Amino acid sequence: MYLVFDIGGTHMRIGVSSDGSTITESKIVPTSQDFDQGILVLKQTADELSGGEKINVVAGGIPGPLDKGKSMLVTCPQLHGWIQKPLKAELEKAYGTKVYLENDTAIGGIGEAVKGAGAGKKIVAYLAMGTGIGGTRIVDQRVDSNNLGFEPGHQIIMPDGNPCNCGGKGHLEAYVGGSYIEKIYHQRAEDIKDVSIWNEVSKYLAIGLNNTIVHWSPDIVVLGGSVSESIPLEKVQAYLSEFLTIFPQAPDIVKASLGHDGGLYGALELLK
Ligand SMILES: [Zn+2]
Repeated sequence: MYLVFDIGGTHMRIGVSSDGSTITESKIVPTSQDFDQGILVLKQTADELSGGEKINVVAGGIPGPLDKGKSMLVTCPQLHGWIQKPLKAELEKAYGTKVYLENDTAIGGIGEAVKGAGAGKKIVAYLAMGTGIGGTRIVDQRVDSNNLGFEPGHQIIMPDGNPCNCGGKGHLEAYVGGSYIEKIYHQRAEDIKDVSIWNEVSKYLAIGLNNTIVHWSPDIVVLGGSVSESIPLEKVQAYLSEFLTIFPQAPDIVKASLGHDGGLYGALELLK
């Protein structure tokens, strides 16, 4: 039995797979801010889903940069209680098997690149549009080599612009991240009906996508996360075709297709 998980700042999705390529069963539970309690809930849910069957291998995503050995979170604004806590070691002890950890955006992107909207494409640019903006470059179904990870959400789209939670100014995230949209327009993205607001947000996103496309040269751009479900794609594409003048045409911009399960499928891929 394979155990996979995707831990977010508020919820964690846990799944098991008996064949290593499909999710047999999965469940969403709240993420505890307390690390020990969080591990306990993770183990209890895994036991419930596996029906007591032996777990042979474990893989999952966590919401933030990992240490070099990919064993724990090193920073994470949403999960302070998990920072520098030995997640990999605790799970290895609990299951007596190998445990693979990766950044949650990376596993979400791998899932989409292998089984979702980016399937069949060589270079996939994945943008996770949740409360903040994450992203990853995937080449041949693997996260591309990198030194410190990928952070397209923290590219500057406006000199001296809106403050970003990371300490910077004018970052893409500070204009199109879910929590920033809520702060700027006093509405949650899914409730916004005003066309002029979406025009503005789409324009900012198109600037960010233009920059990501000229640097990453992807075959396709996949947008995931809750904000991507509300954003009017045709508007973003229209702005992008206006901005992106150096390439003969923009790559396809599509919405993610695996929903919240993307991370679990990506975690299964980590095991291959
Ligand atoms: Zn930032």
